[in-house]
This record gives sequence, C-alpha cells and structure tokens, in this order.
Amino acid sequence: MNLFRNFQAAQISASQLQALRARLSEMTHMREMFERVFRGSKGYGYFDCDMEKSIVTWDARFWQVLGYHESDMAFISQPKHLMGYLHHEDRPIMQHHFRKFLKGAVWNETIFRIKKKTGGYIWAEVRIDAVRDNNGRVKFASGIILDVSRLKQIEQALQVVEARHARIIESSNDGIWEWSAGPAGKPNFQYSSRCWEHLGYTDDDDAVNFGVDRFDAWLDRMHPEDRKRFDKVLHDHIKGKGSFDVEYRVRGKNNQWCWIRARGHMDFDPNGKPMRMSGTNMDITALKIAEQRVLKEKEKAEHASQAKSEFLSRISHELRTPLNAIIGFSEWFDGASNLTRDQKVNIQEIQKAGVHLLALVNEVLELSKIEAGKRSYSIEEIMPLRIIREVFNLLCAQMEEKQIKLCVETNNLHDITLFADATALRQVFINLIGNAIKYNKEGGHIEVSFEMNCEGKLRFIIEDTGRGIPEECKGDIFQPFNRLGAEFSGIEGTGVGLVITKQLVEGMGGVIGFSSELHTGSRFWVELPICEKQNLSAKADASAGSEAAQLPVLNITSEKSILYIEDNPANQRLMSQNFLRYPQLQLKIASEAVLGLFLARSSSPDLIILDINLPDLDGFECLSVLKQDPITKDIPVVALSANALVHDLNKGRKAGFSSYLTKPLRLNQLICVLNNLLVS
Ligand code: ADP
Repeated sequence: MNLFRNFQAAQISASQLQALRARLSEMTHMREMFERVFRGSKGYGYFDCDMEKSIVTWDARFWQVLGYHESDMAFISQPKHLMGYLHHEDRPIMQHHFRKFLKGAVWNETIFRIKKKTGGYIWAEVRIDAVRDNNGRVKFASGIILDVSRLKQIEQALQVVEARHARIIESSNDGIWEWSAGPAGKPNFQYSSRCWEHLGYTDDDDAVNFGVDRFDAWLDRMHPEDRKRFDKVLHDHIKGKGSFDVEYRVRGKNNQWCWIRARGHMDFDPNGKPMRMSGTNMDITALKIAEQRVLKEKEKAEHASQAKSEFLSRISHELRTPLNAIIGFSEWFDGASNLTRDQKVNIQEIQKAGVHLLALVNEVLELSKIEAGKRSYSIEEIMPLRIIREVFNLLCAQMEEKQIKLCVETNNLHDITLFADATALRQVFINLIGNAIKYNKEGGHIEVSFEMNCEGKLRFIIEDTGRGIPEECKGDIFQPFNRLGAEFSGIEGTGVGLVITKQLVEGMGGVIGFSSELHTGSRFWVELPICEKQNLSAKADASAGSEAAQLPVLNITSEKSILYIEDNPANQRLMSQNFLRYPQLQLKIASEAVLGLFLARSSSPDLIILDINLPDLDGFECLSVLKQDPITKDIPVVALSANALVHDLNKGRKAGFSSYLTKPLRLNQLICVLNNLLVS
C-alpha cells in the first residue's frame, strides 16, 4: 500500500499505474512459476548473492532438506558463515574458485560437501553466473545448488570397480588392448603399456611410436608362420564361428620370440558391423618353453619305452624257447600210460614250474604292454575253475603261512566255460585272491564263489574277512600307485595290481566292482561273458588230473601230411611225439629253410608249420618264396614263433600266414588250428 501511496504522491498517471500493476502481476506470476519449477525439481536449490550488501538470499527448502529450520536461515544467509557449512577439505577449493570468479573467470561446475544439521554431509554441485558492473566487478552472483550425492556414490563405486580391475590386470601381468571402428572408417587401436613390456619395450619407446601405426608395428613383429592362424581365428570370430583365442609369436626387442596368448571379444553395431573388440594379451613364453621341454622329455621317454619293449621282447623270446621244451615235454607225458605215479607227480611239478615261469614272463610283458597301451587279448574258450585251481596252487603257501581257510562255491557252474584271455584271467585271480590273502587277518577266511547274473555273464566273487577299505578311500581304489594308506601297514605292495586287474577285465569285455566294510572284510567281483550254447546244468567233476589227461580232439578223418620246418632238435622231437597220437597226421620235418622249401615243392604237403627264427632264411622270407611259387602258393602256412608280442602277431597276419602260433606251443591250440585249416 505504501508503494501505491508513493506512486500517488509522485502523481503517476492512471495509465502508468495500470502498466505498473500489469508489470507487478507479471513478476508475481514469474516468481510463482520459478518457485513451482524449483519445488518440482527436488534436490535443487537456488541462491542470489548481493555482493554489495553482502547478503545471500537462499531458497530455504534446499537447507530444509539438510535438516535446517527457517530460523537458521538468517545465519546461513551471511556469506562469512557459509564456509563453515563446507567440509574442511573442500573449503580451500571453493575459495580458490570463488577468487578466480570474482576476478572475472567463468564459474566452473564445482562439487563439494555440505554439512547436514543432523551430522554427515551431502555432495552438492554449484553453478553460478555473475552480474558484473562496467569494471567487471561482480554485483550479483546467482545460481543453483543441487544434491549430487547419488551420482557421487555411483562415481565412487565405479572408481572402486575400476581400481579393482586395474589391480587384477596389474597382478595378472596381462596386457589389454582395444580396437574400435573410428570415424570415417579409420580404426583406432589402444594397447596398454604391459603389451609392449611383454616384448621388452616401454610404452614410449620410439620403435613402437614412430612411423607406423601401433597395430601395424605389432603385426610387423608377428611370426610369419603364426600370422595365417591369427587371421583365421580373427576372421572366424567375426563371422561368429568361435571365440577369439589364439597363441602366436611376436619378435621382442632383443629379437627373441615372445609367445602371446590373445583372447578377445568383438561387439557389433545394430547392423551387424564390427564396432569394438577388446581383449587381453598373456605372455606365455615361459609356459611354451616348459611345454617344449616336456614334449622333448616325452619323446625321450617314448624312445626309452620303445627300447624297453624291444628289450622285453628279446628277453621273452629267449625265455620262451627253453620253456617250449619244458612245458611241451612235460605236457606230452600227461597222456603217457607207462609212468609210475611218482613219475607222473614229478612231471606235473616240472610242468607247474614251467607254467609259473611262463606266467612270470607274461606278467613282465603284460605290465609293459599295458603301460604302452599295446596289450592285445587272445580271447578263447577257457574253463575258469581250472585257472582258479592253478592260482590256488600258486598262492597256497601264502595262505598256509597266515592259516587262511579257503572255500570255493561253484554253485554247479564248475564246468562252465568263458570267453577270456587265459593269461589275463590268471593275472586277475592272482591279484584279487592275492589281495584277499595279503589284507586278511591271521586265521581269516576267503570264499570264492560263482554265480550267473541276469545278463548271462558269469560273476566271480572273492570275499575276505580282512581289514576292509575305509569309506573315504573307496573312490581312489583303481588309481595307480595309490595304496590307500596300506603303505604304513607293513604289507608289501605297489598299488598297481588293481589298476592292471581293472584294465585286464575291461579288455576282456568284463566289469569289476567291489564293496567293503572297514575291519570286517572286502568283496571284489568280476563279471565276464560266458560261451554260448553251454549246458549250464552239467555237473561234471572237473578234477585237475582228469582234465589234464584228456587229449584234444582232432576232427580230421582222412590222412593229411604236415611239413614242419624247424631247426631246434628239442622242438622237432616234441612235435613228432605229439603227432604220434594222431595217426591220421603224417609229419615230415625239415631242419633248414632251404630243405623245407624243397620238400614243400616236391611233396606238396596239406599244411606247413614254419618256425620264424631259422638260421638260413627267416620265416617271412620263406613264406614269401612259398607264396610266389605256383606249386606251393595255396598250401596253408602256420607260423610258430617265440616272438609273441602284439606287433609280431600282426606282422605275421599281414605277411600272409594262415595262423600264428606262439611258443611254448599248447597242444590244444595246435589241434584247434589244424581243425580249422585242414579240410577233411
Ligand atoms: P597293492 O596291494 O600292491 O598295494 P593293489 O592295486 O592291489 O595294490 O591294491 C590297492 C590298494 O587297495 C591296496 O594297497 C589296499 O590298500 C587296497 N586293497 C586292495 N584289495 C584289498 C582287500 N581285499 N582288502 C583290503 N584292502 C584292499
């Protein structure tokens, strides 16, 4: 009202008064609008500082959000008090900015902390504009202040994450790189300094900074042999055909090759164009050197293993030749009727010792073959009970020593036959029954039983009353060299028996399993396929003596002539004596290859048995002559050799032998071959 009185006093005209009123209403309207706007934009406040009067007019709501009251505003509005509301660390920054602003500089966005009435701070950003007089002095400084605490928290969280990434990258020793499709198709490459450090350069090294683009500098150093692979992996990755993960060599500063493993990922724009690719470079030089060293060692070990195999093959050959005579002659006496009982027992002992020695030779070979992954199985029809008996005889001394009682329950399956490899099966029983003795208590029991499972497989169960296997060790039982703690028990062992056993069982198409209870006993079982068409109800009494005395049946009725080419007189005699039991077979012997070839041509035998290691021509050369001669080319030739390794057998088959028999020769094997090759 005073204003109007003053206007009246100044005798303002009615029209001027009306204009003034309109102007006043417009200003009120604008003020209300600004207030609405600021009220709507939460977290924003405004201020206006009259520098001459040194008064700050605040939007009190900003301070109310910080917990201050209307009554605090008079104090806050005095500029000299304002600094007291700022965090002490931010005051010098604020003063510095304000001084520059007063001197004419434009105000830059400034962020600082303002104290809340209740304690603690908010982060606020201030934007100020000035009204200056003609001398540039600030008359009014007005602006807005806004709460940016959330933004600041996000920024701080980002900084933490970035710092973490930086630490990880730093500690991983990996270099990072990024490729991006730059403007106007010019790509942009960024390499972290670590990438160059891998090659022995520093980031600001002239060699990688001048003249060429950094990516070109990198590619220039790449090994030409690896470049194609690098390009292909990259190309495939861009086409979506796999990840970008490639190893390549780059020439380092010292001209040495540095191995890098690069991994990365390409991002595409919405049109499917490559946009950005980021990745890491790992220095794998040390790893590669170690890998190459291991490969060399492996090669050396393979050579050594080959040498070992050859040595074993030779040794086994040397041992098998005399064994042929021992086992063969003692076996020949099985059918002889004119021997006293004592003589028969003695001969059986010789036979047993020979067979045991043969088993030892086989085991040594077995281990080396399994190690080399080369063991082959000669699957034939065998009577498991017979093998189990042999194993009992071998192990009976150990059983007696610990006074272990053994019981066999065949469940009327004593004459059942299996398809298995006799040596492998013997080894399986030796290992399992051997363990049942070793890990049994004094005076314990072992039960070996047979049962048929529903899939038509024969299951052997070897159950003992020994120490059992701890629950936590059961998962490791088929691990090589793992003795599951038995190494501290004083019981001898190597921890490989069960591994070999498992491989042998599986090699024969069977399965092995076990259950065990600590301090009570263990139960190992093996399942193997039986021979078809068996009369499972047959209950023959399979005593060792009666089985041994049975002569293998020759199904040939008409007379056949056989030529045996062999230089060893003992083997010649053995063969002659064997043939005496089969009157339909006429045997001719040639002790030299050349004589054998002559006899083959002149007498056209029905079959030739040929020793491989002959002094004049070896068996393979001899076979080749026979096969090239139209007169002898159709005569079946059976090799008989002490070379019994897999590759010997394969070599024999490839060369064209009709069959390949190994020494010591078992009569039933020979008769089986003759039954197959000689047509009546
Ligand atoms: P070795 O007997 O030479 O140690 P194996 O491979 O035959 O090796 O057996 C591995 C381990 O399994 C043995 O060391 C032993 O701890 C355990 N084990 C095998 N058979 C039996 C068993 N019948 N009773 C208790 N523990 C056994």
